[in-house]
Amino acid sequence: MTKPGRQEGNYLASIPHGLMFHHFHNDEHVKGQGSISAATLADMIDFVGCKYILSASDWYERAVAGKLDKNDLCITFDDNLKCQYDVAYPVLKSYGIKAFWFVYTSPLEGELERIEIYRHFRCSNFASVNDFYQAFLKAVQTSPYLKRVEKALNNFDPSKYLTEFPFYTKEDKIFRYIRDRILGAEPYQEIMEQMLIDYQVDIGQLKGKLWMNEEQLRQLDSEHNIIGLHSHSHPTYLGRLPATEQEKEYRKNASVLKNVLAKDPVTVSHPCNSYNQDTLSILHKLGVKVGFRANMYGNLSSRYEYPREDHANILKEMGRAT
Ligand SMILES: [Zn+2]
Repeated sequence: MTKPGRQEGNYLASIPHGLMFHHFHNDEHVKGQGSISAATLADMIDFVGCKYILSASDWYERAVAGKLDKNDLCITFDDNLKCQYDVAYPVLKSYGIKAFWFVYTSPLEGELERIEIYRHFRCSNFASVNDFYQAFLKAVQTSPYLKRVEKALNNFDPSKYLTEFPFYTKEDKIFRYIRDRILGAEPYQEIMEQMLIDYQVDIGQLKGKLWMNEEQLRQLDSEHNIIGLHSHSHPTYLGRLPATEQEKEYRKNASVLKNVLAKDPVTVSHPCNSYNQDTLSILHKLGVKVGFRANMYGNLSSRYEYPREDHANILKEMGRAT
């Protein structure tokens, strides 16, 4: 029976692309900005049409052979999150879909990578993301960076920033602008670490809750999913790093995955969509064959740049809020 939703074929863009997913929630995994439930994932698969979703290995083979059809879709997960394994994987199994899972490997080495710790803090300690933004601005006020932030915000127009992400709110954009452009990595981290202390967050107990472990990755691999590269430590702007640093990130990423899975990874998704020509050369050197961007913009100029549609945009097309 056809479920309600878009008429067959209407969703389909004129180019083959991936559907990009990050966070999921259930009773155990806290609901947060952009997270979806198992039921919503199932609705989305019905909406785009299960029959257009290729298994990861089919997609890979057709991409390598240059034989993807304009209607072909695939499902991709970034960031090796435990919530994907717990919430999304059972849904995929019920549809018989095999997906791409792009893994940054530092958590497998015990690193509590801040990108995820901070998100968890935002979602679990504040009633809404805007409450977090307010607390963050308060923390900026008592930091040494207050003047710098105030001055830069004077000339900032949120409506002209990150226009390629239409689902970001004005508050999202202001926060991201302060974090990425005004503060930069270290001052931002300094402020956030102080907030973790102020809110008495015990980050040690998050280990094992946020990321998948080696055994879960091996299970996905043995059940015909494809595990791919996503850098080792997930830098926000990998493409702005010197080539030697980028190479270190991807070499380490590849070697940890090889240790876990006993095979060389041959796919990649670019963390935060950040890459440059150096990145593509490094990936080529590492034997990578197929890669994904994190949006639908730009022409497909290499096999490492297949577009992906963010799940939030699909929800929007379905007439559903994120
Ligand atoms: Zn990522």
